[in-house]
Amino acid sequence: MVLTHSQQKNYGQDMKESAILSCNNNNNNNNNMITIKGMIGLIMSQIDDNNEIKKEVISLGMGDPTAYSCFTTSHLAQDAVLRTLSSANFNGYAPTQGLPTTRMAIADYLSRDLSYKLTMNDVFVTSGCTNAIDIALSILARPGANILVPRPGFPIYELCASFRQLEVRHFNLLPTRVWEVDLDAVESLADENTVAIVIINPGNPCGNVYSYQHLQRIAEVAKKLGILVIADEVYGHLAFGKNPFIAMGTFGSIAPVLTLGSLSKRWLVPGWRLGWLAVTDPTCMFKQPKVMQRLKKYFDIYGGPPTFIQAAVPQILEETDDIFFKKNINLLNQTSELCFEGINKIPCLSCPQKPDGSMAVMVKLNLSLFNDITDDIDFCFKLAKEEFVIILPGVVVGMKDWLRITFAVEPASLEEAIQRISCFCHRHAYQLDTNF
Ligand SMILES: *Cc1c(COP(=O)(O)O)cnc(C)c1O
Repeated sequence: MVLTHSQQKNYGQDMKESAILSCNNNNNNNNNMITIKGMIGLIMSQIDDNNEIKKEVISLGMGDPTAYSCFTTSHLAQDAVLRTLSSANFNGYAPTQGLPTTRMAIADYLSRDLSYKLTMNDVFVTSGCTNAIDIALSILARPGANILVPRPGFPIYELCASFRQLEVRHFNLLPTRVWEVDLDAVESLADENTVAIVIINPGNPCGNVYSYQHLQRIAEVAKKLGILVIADEVYGHLAFGKNPFIAMGTFGSIAPVLTLGSLSKRWLVPGWRLGWLAVTDPTCMFKQPKVMQRLKKYFDIYGGPPTFIQAAVPQILEETDDIFFKKNINLLNQTSELCFEGINKIPCLSCPQKPDGSMAVMVKLNLSLFNDITDDIDFCFKLAKEEFVIILPGVVVGMKDWLRITFAVEPASLEEAIQRISCFCHRHAYQLDTNF
């Protein structure tokens, strides 16, 4: 990408160059790749330098809804943690796989969605879903192995894989087919060294919620290929479209499933770092004593989340009121609609699919309609500098010249942000700028 001297001066070229460099490295499976946090940091630094008027910054970049007071966790969860903390009974180490009562509560919670029962021995407590991803990939890595990962996807998979020397092979999610997995591509990508396929449902960054039939088809392809399914269900139950949330473990007897999740998204407490890895494999295809022993041992490397947070989990999982969940689902449904409709009114942007779940959606940039925007990174850097709105360039999640928008935002702020994006697009668009 070549910029004029004045553009370089105007748009913090150093930062932008380092962002572009990092993204170009994304495909090379090395450790220089950029994460969502890394890219948002680079974009934010544009604002810090330029925000003399102290205009309100609106971030549709990171998926941390707790920035907005309408997304607050339940009193019950907070009180549960206060109680376990002040009891002084949980100041010591927990077993590295997690407190038994916590593992049991998570097993019961996940079993509600299954036709079979998980036991405490199937469940391991992790420091958020991120830690569960790293553990799953570490356990599966061996020399020459590869893993199938969706594009667009969640960059933590690539990052963990690169540190574990696990080769990543990308299959596409299809925007014209409600972001379903391109299963033909999956079959042609896999070989005898493929160990697993990653499925994120409800999806980040696409907002997809897969049907029962599609999930079953995925399981059948995994069976045919003789691989595991890693089911990232960190957005489990955050579904508000026509498809209900179906746990991948439902098909655990077709192909073994490692189910990953956490309290972070559904309970709106990403800072508590409480997650899990569950082996949903009722016919014990993967769950051999040796494998489970190794998995168990592997947890000795980690300390796990704070013991008092673990100790609060049984009460949180068993007693959280449905009203809390319904309120959040309704709010996410409302903001996803605001986002979908608002974005599709802007000439240079299009959103192929109204999100059916999670907290994020993909938006396509029509670059031919802009007179001075070269790509998605350029769009996001200029938008931040001129309008104080933060959006993630699609290239970070594997889709160049798309954007990822997080809609878990207070409705008024979201409307304001869309208004500013609209002004920005009109200002930078070809024919339209005369009307503005
Ligand atoms: C947020 C997120 C995670 C990480 O969850 P934590 O519990 O905060 O570690 C993992 N996978 C996806 C798809 C996510 O969006």
